[in-house]
Amino acid sequence: MSETAKTAPITGRVLEIQRMSTEDGPGIRTTVFMKGCPLHCSWCHNPESISHSPQVQWIASRCIGCRMCEHICPRQALTIGDGGEIIISRDLCRGCGTCVEACPTTALELLGRMWTVDELLSELLKDLSYFKKSKGGITLSGGECTMQPEFVIALLRELRERGIHTALDTCGLCRTEVLLEILPYTDLVLYDLKEIDPEKHILFTGSSNEKIISNLHVTAEYIREHMFPGELWIRTPVIPGATDRDDNIRGIGECIAALPEKSVARWELCAFNNLCGDKYTRLGKKWEFAQTPLLTTEQMEHLTYIAQQSGVDPSIVFFTGSPQVSGTAHSGNESPQPRTSGCR
Ligand code: SF4
Ligand code: SF4
Repeated sequence: MSETAKTAPITGRVLEIQRMSTEDGPGIRTTVFMKGCPLHCSWCHNPESISHSPQVQWIASRCIGCRMCEHICPRQALTIGDGGEIIISRDLCRGCGTCVEACPTTALELLGRMWTVDELLSELLKDLSYFKKSKGGITLSGGECTMQPEFVIALLRELRERGIHTALDTCGLCRTEVLLEILPYTDLVLYDLKEIDPEKHILFTGSSNEKIISNLHVTAEYIREHMFPGELWIRTPVIPGATDRDDNIRGIGECIAALPEKSVARWELCAFNNLCGDKYTRLGKKWEFAQTPLLTTEQMEHLTYIAQQSGVDPSIVFFTGSPQVSGTAHSGNESPQPRTSGCR
């Protein structure tokens, strides 16, 4: 092995660093969204996080129609439509960023930048004072951060050495060995459990839930043995026409109730929101939930009641999100929407 290869820094592909988050663990947090996910949830609220590869998005409201990007793509992946819209052939685009550099108004954006651990660490340490004041910390989310284990472990280790609270937000679909390597550097695990029926799980996400459930047991057992009670939160996205069934919520509750006692401190039922429609548009994709109405407060209260009757400690069940703003959420405006971790 060459000297260069031996000392090559560990790098990871990061989608975004989002500051001042209050929903991804205790206190005020900075959430790092990694790029790449093994699941393909049909309702995904972060479609730009699914592919591990860099992707270009076009933000129409920033485009002044200058055509500086026209003909610049070395792969002829970028064309301009009759209405002035930028069309990117996803099959041809390799995310080289040439068109992004040519655009004078940031209407073209490259999603997914490589960071070394040291670079990201020094960026995150800028927020140290508010972590300390609020008892917050860093949450690693995605995408699915366990897909980049070497980078994630190295980063978490550095954060822990500095006494910073760390949270891992995971969909649970990863090799168990990877999970067990990451857990020693994690103070809190936010674990998605979306659908209890294995067939429906495949239908909604493209993968079985078998590994996810077995990894949940491994996580809960690890927490019982090595950590403190309450360091595992479960999050369930409540999606109209998909996961919002009584039998699903009851089944997930029974699954949680079978975990070691007091290992789960919180079970969140996360109400569907439709704020991410523009993200699909920018990636040139259609979203099958674009016209789906929000759930009502009554529906969320009913499912919360089902959850509380499922065998778990009722005091750990909460619903989150804003179903009561039905009819106002999808305005069609193109201002950037915040990413949501978990419940994706
Ligand atoms: S990122 Fe590169 S390959 Fe993709 S459209 Fe722009 S110039 Fe072409
Ligand atoms: S270079 Fe940017 S602003 Fe100009 S047409 Fe292309 S996307 Fe629009």
